[in-house]
Amino acid sequence: MNSLQNFLNRHHDDIVASVAALERDGHKCNRCGATDALEVHHIVPVHAGGTNTKENLTTLCHKCHVMIHAEERESLRREKERTAMQTVLNQHGGKSIEDWG
Ligand SMILES: [Zn+2]
Ligand SMILES: [Zn+2]
Repeated sequence: MNSLQNFLNRHHDDIVASVAALERDGHKCNRCGATDALEVHHIVPVHAGGTNTKENLTTLCHKCHVMIHAEERESLRREKERTAMQTVLNQHGGKSIEDWG
C-alpha cells in the first residue's frame, strides 16, 4: 500500500516536471528544434543520482533522444575500458608478491 502510494507520488512528480520542462523549452527539441515526437531526457541519469526536477530534464525529439543515449553508451563503454585498463596496471605495479597468495 505504502510502496504503491510512493510509486504513484514519484510518477506524478515526474509527469509534473516533464510538463514543466516541455513548457520551459517551448515544446521544441533542444538539439534540432523539432516540434513533434518530443520526449524529456534526464541530463544526469537517475541511476547516476539525477533527480526528476525540470532543472535536470531537457526536451528532445525522439530521434535526438535515441542519438544522445547512443552517445552516452559509447562514452560509458570507453570509460569502462579505461577503468579496466587502470585496474590491470594497478595490479601489475601496485601489488606485492604476498598479495598474490
Ligand atoms: Zn533520455
Ligand atoms: Zn531533435
